[in-house]
Amino acid sequence: MPDDSKGVHPDLLKQLTCPCDVRSSLSEDSGGLRCDQCDKVFPLVEGIPHILPDSDSES
Ligand SMILES: [Zn+2]
Repeated sequence: MPDDSKGVHPDLLKQLTCPCDVRSSLSEDSGGLRCDQCDKVFPLVEGIPHILPDSDSES
């Protein structure tokens, strides 16, 4: 049975920053990582954070 309840490794979490302008650190939130500054939430897929910059601007 896969153990996907561990979340992100603390050492990895420390290295992660939000791609927004302030490059804020991220906090673990339910089901993902949340930026302290812009409140953007990045999904966690099998313990791997999917942090993508806003490349797709809404037209
Ligand atoms: Zn941010």
